[in-house]
Amino acid sequence: MIYLDANATTPVDPAVLEAMLPFLREHFANPSAGYSGGRVVRRAIEQARNEVAALLGAGPAEIIFTSGGTESISAVHASVRSLWPGKPELVITGTEHPAVIESARRWEAHGGKVVRVPVHHDGRVDLDALRALVRPGITALVSIMWVNNETGVIAPMSEIVGIAHAAGALVHTDAVQAAGKIHLDVRTVSVDFLSLSGHKMYAPKGVGALYVSQRVRFEPLIIGGGQENERRSGTENVPGIVALGKAAELARHHLDDGTKTRLHSMRDRFEHLVHAALSDMRIHGCRTHRLHTTSSFCLPEIDSAGMLILLEAAGIACSAGAACHTGALHPSHVLEVMGISARDAACTLRFSFHRFNTKAEAETAAHAVIDAAHKMRAERGDDSMVISS
Ligand code: PLP
Repeated sequence: MIYLDANATTPVDPAVLEAMLPFLREHFANPSAGYSGGRVVRRAIEQARNEVAALLGAGPAEIIFTSGGTESISAVHASVRSLWPGKPELVITGTEHPAVIESARRWEAHGGKVVRVPVHHDGRVDLDALRALVRPGITALVSIMWVNNETGVIAPMSEIVGIAHAAGALVHTDAVQAAGKIHLDVRTVSVDFLSLSGHKMYAPKGVGALYVSQRVRFEPLIIGGGQENERRSGTENVPGIVALGKAAELARHHLDDGTKTRLHSMRDRFEHLVHAALSDMRIHGCRTHRLHTTSSFCLPEIDSAGMLILLEAAGIACSAGAACHTGALHPSHVLEVMGISARDAACTLRFSFHRFNTKAEAETAAHAVIDAAHKMRAERGDDSMVISS
């Protein structure tokens, strides 16, 4: 199987697995224990914290380990809602991950107001609209993702922070798809909160981190034994945390060692081959500010549900621009908000590359897409699953 679904989850890097195994085998002590076994584990957690902090340009005291991106996001929203009750508004975009959208729904359920900033057709936030919608004394938090999971579109985060801070609002960014893939530095792009997840950066599922700027107050979502400096209780997921630390260390290295350039040209080669054979292919999202590992495109009138079946048979794992809920295909909310028709969304595929992919795999995948599309076109007309717009 050629795995091209890294935005769903990345494979675990073998070096990450090696780093975490001793903490499942011999170093199993509780990090709160006072004896030497506990101290070894505690030191490993603090080392991991240093690595995650270094990846973000943060201080170690600004990093809280969590169970993943979703928890980090919920924790930020709940904390801001509770600490700034006089500021009722939360600003998001419609292209956020459900972890933000559903958490925003809860913000509303608790009596707050959620304001949705429009995005342009290329998926980038409309900064003029943001400027008009963020209100001094009213907006508590702007929560906008750094990189979109479906399209790879990269947000103008510096400008977003400038606009929000000028109005006295805090900024949270869901950087789950950005962390480890592009340079993030909270000293230059001064977001107040940042969420990341282990399983999108070559560590296992079920571990993540939350950056909380030392400038900002924070109230924990999960309370109990006072772990993580009273900011996230519960006995630490030590193997996961050690894995995330190793993944952050490797990511820092790979941000500068040519991996990015290699993946960028691999993705571009893939798109070039598909486009050369299927000239009506339409790539979604901003061409100049798009994650180098993501390719989301529509092949007009070629139903992606059928393509996924043919691609799986050809040994390619990727995903569609429509999510399957209870047996029915629903167009992606991200594409919908970008103004892409339900029909085109139903003909959209997403390929997301990881650092173990090879150029040969990218080429094989491109040929598989072309073959499948030709097959679908040849058979079209009998039982198309395309959602009508
Ligand atoms: N945010 C984005 C952009 C994501 O892609 C994901 C995972 O799909 C999440 C948040 C949720 O992260 P986790 O699976 O670690 O809870």
